[in-house]
Amino acid sequence: MKASAAAGRGARPAAAGRTARASYAGVFAALKKHHGWFGESLPLIASENVPSPAVREALISDFGNRYAEGWPGERVYAGCAYIDEVEVECAALARRLFRARFADVRPVSGVVANLAVYSAFSSPGDAMLAPSIPAGGHISHGRREHAGTAGLVHGLDVEFYPFDPEAMNIDVDGTKKKVRGLKRGRGAPKIAMLGGSLFLFPHPVKELAGFLKDSGMHVNYDGAHVAGLIAGGQFQDPLREGADTLTASTHKTLFGPQGGMVLGGKAHAEGIKRAVFPGLTSSHHIHHMAAKAVAFAEAAEFGAAYARQVVGNARALAEALSAAGFRVLGEAGGFTRSHQVAVDVLAHSDGGRVEADLEKANIIVNRQLIPGDIRAGRHYMHPGGIRLGVAEVTRLGMKKGEMREIASLMGQAVIGGRDPARVRSGVRALRKGFQKVRYCFDGRLPAYEYVRLR
Ligand SMILES: *Cc1c(COP(=O)(O)O)cnc(C)c1O
Repeated sequence: MKASAAAGRGARPAAAGRTARASYAGVFAALKKHHGWFGESLPLIASENVPSPAVREALISDFGNRYAEGWPGERVYAGCAYIDEVEVECAALARRLFRARFADVRPVSGVVANLAVYSAFSSPGDAMLAPSIPAGGHISHGRREHAGTAGLVHGLDVEFYPFDPEAMNIDVDGTKKKVRGLKRGRGAPKIAMLGGSLFLFPHPVKELAGFLKDSGMHVNYDGAHVAGLIAGGQFQDPLREGADTLTASTHKTLFGPQGGMVLGGKAHAEGIKRAVFPGLTSSHHIHHMAAKAVAFAEAAEFGAAYARQVVGNARALAEALSAAGFRVLGEAGGFTRSHQVAVDVLAHSDGGRVEADLEKANIIVNRQLIPGDIRAGRHYMHPGGIRLGVAEVTRLGMKKGEMREIASLMGQAVIGGRDPARVRSGVRALRKGFQKVRYCFDGRLPAYEYVRLR
């Protein structure tokens, strides 16, 4: 059976009045089709990756049915002997990857990790300095009126960094000026958030951390996207450049599973631990914690080679897209130094339409707000850009030659107006040779193999 975009897009919602048995079977049928579809697609969502079979094995272990509230050795329940063993190993691996004195691997996601930092180092009503969304910020940094976590959940007022759209980076002088102005008025913010979701170039941590800390701010670097590049020695090293804490997701450029963590120095450990438990978790999804330990071991062994290839692939994809006629952002800085590529697609249509057209060709990307969109009245359904990430295709073993093929397929679909079904055949042919997860100890099971336990 050939899974296709048509199967994904046109899927019928479950009919009311179905028997429980039919609903049950329907769930497994959809899961199976999804696996088939991703096995013959180009997954280019920048926040996603594919885990190794080893990570998947840890995820189905009995750890997922247990509670281990508290800290290893100080648990609230019995039965945690082996859980403690794994969690101690997990935190040690995390500290080693990021050269941090302290790691809390319990946050169940990047958003929860950020919320732990907000809770530990600020109070509702305080202000936070963060990138706006078109400037790369994440909704967890966002304002109350946008239902952002910082504003809506923790009651922070969010002030945005001035942003330079040519450099696609935070404006250092503008930021200093803005902070001086805030100090004269309402007072300096309590937290400064660096890092983001649309994240092409290292943020000016070295240039700003000292100034922000002298102004009374806790400086957190949100490495949700780039944690795997940091661990692999590419991109930047925020804890050495002056950030107090580093929050991360464990599944974007890192090797999965979905989850979060907070890293930092000993001085911040107690505040973070209390915020994570009992503040923000009861169960910390122990199977995910075990899978994080497995992924961190893989990153310690293979992460440097992987990160080098990711960054090289992103640059190659950006250059090839530009040569094919796309307007790739960040040209002044060489397009990208991360796993991401951002493309302004307004010359062709808009980000929403391009996303949908590419999906029909089995090329999975996301539409993206880019600088200038809000001023022009464009919103998140039909923004000006798309964002691409090469972490997953790199994990599948693709190199620069394949990046040029991806750019060519995208050019055929978006600029050439070629029938998506024909482009889809090209995508399937390209994917045929890339069915296993690389950069891991045990990669026998195909990457998107559907595992049946029933
Ligand atoms: C994805 C992302 C998050 C949220 O991470 P989850 O693990 O999805 O909760 C936080 N911050 C940034 C900058 C992100 O891009």
